[in-house]
Amino acid sequence: MKLNLLRPLTFDTILLIACTLISTASHEALASTQNEPDNISQVVSLSSTDVANGQVALLEINLNELGPAATDLKATFRKQSIALIQHPIKSRGIYAGLVGIPLSATPEKAVIMLEWTDAGGRRAASVPLGIIDGKYRSETLKVDSRHVTLSKKNLARVKQEKKEIRRIFASGSDIRLWFGGFKKPLASETTSAFGTRRLFNGQHRSYHRGTDFRAKVGTPVYASNSGLVRLAKNLFYSGNIVIVDHGINIFTLYAHLSEIQVNDGQHIARGHQIGLSGATGRVSGPHLHWAVKVNGVYVEPLQFLSVISTLLGR
Ligand SMILES: [Zn+2]
Repeated sequence: MKLNLLRPLTFDTILLIACTLISTASHEALASTQNEPDNISQVVSLSSTDVANGQVALLEINLNELGPAATDLKATFRKQSIALIQHPIKSRGIYAGLVGIPLSATPEKAVIMLEWTDAGGRRAASVPLGIIDGKYRSETLKVDSRHVTLSKKNLARVKQEKKEIRRIFASGSDIRLWFGGFKKPLASETTSAFGTRRLFNGQHRSYHRGTDFRAKVGTPVYASNSGLVRLAKNLFYSGNIVIVDHGINIFTLYAHLSEIQVNDGQHIARGHQIGLSGATGRVSGPHLHWAVKVNGVYVEPLQFLSVISTLLGR
């Protein structure tokens, strides 16, 4: 593994970058410029250096180790800004961010871009991240044909709803609204995994961008964490859906509900009952579809839960 310095603005500033692989707890220096001190400390770490499409990696950056005057740290992955927060359980100056790998990503050696300002000006570095194949399964589903071959009216409706959802994701809270671990929205088994390649009625192909839980109509559904309800209405594909903004670019979605029990704009606590599960929208039967969107990317909800647990030291 190498960390490449891309644009050092001066030649006399020493930059030290080290990487710790949390999974193995082994400390490995990634790279450094000249005059590397003996006491290499952790600057950048990733929860895993190989991440499957649809999964999320935990990024940690120790700004203190970038230099006493380092400020204005930014991280991006595939041009998508990665929101950075003060690490919830580590010292001041250690930042954490969640890097979601899109389901559409193909295996490659990718990079996370870092930028910060120090006495020498604006600096940049890249952190390598290997994208591997999630090897998701395929399934065929039979649904009402009106949800596969769309009428002109429904086509226009879907277009409008996509726009509305895009606006919501683009206008999330800059303030962290979630605290403590995220929870499953109900206690039940998974009936269809995230990432599955789906063929509807032998015609329409798509990727499953959430996890389905077995739930008969009328089962209470609970908010995974605290946040602000940004959507609580009926959509063509999702049926009755609730979207919760947890702040700093984390959203959770609860679809196909039989009943919605919260309102748009309502602040809710973790575990708040947001509705009852159902079979509205494009479904082959009753279930709860639960999705998690992190920094603009739908990620595997159950893996997201474990990454958040790691972040919280649990
Ligand atoms: Zn689903």
